[in-house]
Amino acid sequence: MRDALDGTEGFISAQALHSALHASGSPIGLATVYRALGDLAASGDADCLQSPEGEAIYRACSTGHHHHLICRNCGLTVEIAADEVEAWAQRVAGEHGFTSAAHVVDVFGLCADCSRQAAEPASAESASA
Ligand SMILES: [Zn+2]
Ligand SMILES: [Zn+2]
Ligand SMILES: [Zn+2]
Repeated sequence: MRDALDGTEGFISAQALHSALHASGSPIGLATVYRALGDLAASGDADCLQSPEGEAIYRACSTGHHHHLICRNCGLTVEIAADEVEAWAQRVAGEHGFTSAAHVVDVFGLCADCSRQAAEPASAESASA
């Protein structure tokens, strides 16, 4: 399953990965895909996060704690370090007496390419009307 995830670009849902596996001839069931992805996420071999639509999406990631910038239009994912966030999370947790604090911070937006496209006039031909 890790191999299948490695072969995908950006984040992918269990459903989409299942479809891709099926298309390549694998008889694997959807429930198995869900379970395998859950195991990978639990063991830290994959990142799991919620898409803006509330769907769980997965990605084979570099190991170690990090954050993501994700384009909600094309799915481009950039791994980012966020030292300010680490310091802030430790501080606020400590202020409330929490220990072993963990956090998930992912930023969704439009990447540079998609921002450029969004800025262009939607329809050039209707501009003369
Ligand atoms: Zn990552
Ligand atoms: Zn994009
Ligand atoms: Zn962090």
